[in-house]
Amino acid sequence: MYRTHTCGELRIGDAGKKVTLAGWVQRTRKFGSMTFIDLRDRYGITQLVLDSDTDLGREFVIQVCGEVVERQSKNPNLPTGDVEIKVEKVNVLNKAQTPPFTIEEVSDGGEDIRAKYRYLDLRRGPLQRALALRHRLAQEVRTYLDAQGFMEIETPYLIKSTPEGARDFVVPSRMNQGQFYALPQSPQTFKQLLMVAGYDRYFQIVRCFRDEDLRADRQPEFTQIDCEMSFVEQEDVLNTFEGMMLTMFRNALGIDIPHPIPRMSWFDAMDKYGSDKPDIRFGMEIHEISDLVKGHGFSVFDNAPYVGAICVGGAAEYTRKQLDELTEWVKRPQVGAKGLIYVRLNSDGGIKSSIDKFYTEEELEKVVRSVGAGKGDLVLCLCGDKRKTQTQLGVLRIEMGNRLGLRDPKVFAPLWVVDFPLLEWDDETSRFYAMHHPFTAPKPEHMELFYSDRKEDLEKVCANAYDFVLNGTELGGGSIRIHQADVQSRMFDVLGISREDAEYKFGFIINAFKYGAPPHGGLAFGFDRLCALFGGQETIRDFIAFPKNNQGRDVMIDSPSRIDDEQLEELNIAIKTE
Ligand code: ASP
Repeated sequence: MYRTHTCGELRIGDAGKKVTLAGWVQRTRKFGSMTFIDLRDRYGITQLVLDSDTDLGREFVIQVCGEVVERQSKNPNLPTGDVEIKVEKVNVLNKAQTPPFTIEEVSDGGEDIRAKYRYLDLRRGPLQRALALRHRLAQEVRTYLDAQGFMEIETPYLIKSTPEGARDFVVPSRMNQGQFYALPQSPQTFKQLLMVAGYDRYFQIVRCFRDEDLRADRQPEFTQIDCEMSFVEQEDVLNTFEGMMLTMFRNALGIDIPHPIPRMSWFDAMDKYGSDKPDIRFGMEIHEISDLVKGHGFSVFDNAPYVGAICVGGAAEYTRKQLDELTEWVKRPQVGAKGLIYVRLNSDGGIKSSIDKFYTEEELEKVVRSVGAGKGDLVLCLCGDKRKTQTQLGVLRIEMGNRLGLRDPKVFAPLWVVDFPLLEWDDETSRFYAMHHPFTAPKPEHMELFYSDRKEDLEKVCANAYDFVLNGTELGGGSIRIHQADVQSRMFDVLGISREDAEYKFGFIINAFKYGAPPHGGLAFGFDRLCALFGGQETIRDFIAFPKNNQGRDVMIDSPSRIDDEQLEELNIAIKTE
């Protein structure tokens, strides 16, 4: 037997037992003739005492036999901190080269070196806890959905492109030369076909692939909790997955989320938070002040279709310099505002503003009151095109939330955003795009508008589409689907996809809808991000065992990489050289 106990198991009640442990040498300390070793495995760390001088390097894999004894100086930070092992025999199972960084709670290694030696980084506590949380959450998902009658069904990875708005990764076919598979951006069409096939409730914890530029914290392959249900309305879907989220919070974090989880229409989210994924851990809502500020000779406001403001609580002491810096901040291309106007309500009740030339104190007071500001608050205003300005105010709101420490990762404020527009007009390409994806159904009461040829009518069509938002992050989304062949064809028409193209790409699903497709709907959650948020972290990388870097590279296995000429030959593919 390699071991009788793990390194996280022994307690004071075990004192006197003869045990065998195995694990990695995390740290060695010498005191005279005595050597203390921290022996580590996935379960914890146990202190070993050897009364001989041994030569055990960091990360050596050893097996020790000895007696559990009470420790002289206890370590209250370790569950095993009351005991140590008086080692009688050491067996070196494997030597180790000195690792390129310290394998401790906090490592001295930079990100690149740790990525290259990911298997060493994965030995560290924070990563082990992250993956343990991921495992726990996956089990909770399975248990909950199984109890609700969902079947876990795998769908293929080598498929034909499914449009979710990103570029496909493609795989050349050797047996069908000149032809390619696409890796799924999601199993969208397959899960709908499973509904046509009568499986009623499907789920899968599944890998999805999207060849996007890797902004911020994205991965080219990521995992979704993908679900679909038949004979449901939006209400049924939301209730089912609200239950799942509440269960996960309770069982994995011991937190009871207040429920029902609030719902907000997409229009309200945009108007009040300037975002379709509002962080509602704090207020600071957007108010339109156009009527109050237009017509006073301040041409910037007079010429703007929309003027909006947020009230930043307790920020009146922002200095001139800080306000100038904030003005520069909103002018950065990432925010895109032309300038920033402030109205400050000092703690003595006096009003100071960057536009007091144009407005009387009374007029400014009306503004201040309309956004709910009190003494000591700062009102920040932006103006321009309505949605654009709201979005900019939304970004500013999040920034101020961060600066004021209002976004505590230990506080969870989930929300459903509902009633999305079905379509989004793009000026550049002069066509409509599906806001979710082309399989989302128009609301039944908007069917007439959906068949209209006027752009203004189509812009008004809404969908029973919904997003699950947690702390300003879109964690999941889905919709009630189209289940009639003619409606699906109309959707492709509206999106400017030609009949031939639709037939070539989606003939299979339009056809399937002709053979008795039940009404259905579903959603998918981003599992990596869900794990990160539950773990109180910003980045998803720590919650994926073997992630890629910002350039989409796996630096550990050094991929992507060239393939052999023979492989290219077999595929009948030539690489252009210039
Ligand atoms: N397939 C969608 C997505 O990946 C989710 C859904 O509509 O169920 O975003």
